[in-house]
Amino acid sequence: MARKILIAGNWKMNKTGAEVAQLIKDMKANCGGCCCAVADKVEVLVCPPFTTLSAVIAEAAGTPLEVGAQNIHWEDNGAFTGEISGSMLKETGVTHVIIGHSERRQYFGETDETVNKRLKAALKNGLTAIVCIGETLQERQLGVTEAIIERQVRIALSGITAEQMKNVVLAYEPVWAIGTGEVATNEQAQAVHAFVRALLGKLYACPCVAENTRILYGGSMKPGNAAGLLAQPDIDGGLIGGAALKAADFLAIIKAAM
Ligand code: PEP
Repeated sequence: MARKILIAGNWKMNKTGAEVAQLIKDMKANCGGCCCAVADKVEVLVCPPFTTLSAVIAEAAGTPLEVGAQNIHWEDNGAFTGEISGSMLKETGVTHVIIGHSERRQYFGETDETVNKRLKAALKNGLTAIVCIGETLQERQLGVTEAIIERQVRIALSGITAEQMKNVVLAYEPVWAIGTGEVATNEQAQAVHAFVRALLGKLYACPCVAENTRILYGGSMKPGNAAGLLAQPDIDGGLIGGAALKAADFLAIIKAAM
């Protein structure tokens, strides 16, 4: 089974309701007829802040655009001020959720263990999860990238069955490349993606998991470098921050993927 390219925009804590509606309108107006062709070749997803999910879902209706959230709590409900549960997300109509983004790990105490709990909650609620992994600059310089990635993947996927992996996407996001303008080279990214795919082969008896799981690259992906990254055999799409906030740039990346 060929892995379908996924281009996912992480809008982080950006844009009001009016601004997201304008961004989707700009994407629809400027896709130059690519909207219909997109669905066959590329899956396209945007992940806005919680407050604008409904506005984006309404604006994206009738297009191939999918909508996801940026976080999920592991409990269904309860005294967890500021958190949002899987059933709440499901009710909005989102299909995907990002889990374990490095900004959540860095600023909000996310750990591999909480990533695993959030992943289980996402799957229980019928959401496709995009699980982020990646090393810091210091870890890369110390030569422990693979050890870090292996720990993150093993713990995140602990207790997740091969069947459940159909709804899991991994995103390799070197922390040093996120929002810095410093992108991993095609070779650096491919090497880690191949390592992750080989690890999936060790973790799951069925080779289908390693073959079919999509592994996205994230970290300063832009129109100018997307084609080279997406041409790598183990890179199955992109998780895009800054460039996803501009219709022209996001569309250019989608076109590079097509
Ligand atoms: C991200 O936030 O997941 C990301 C990859 O950001 P950027 O594209 O801006 O580096």
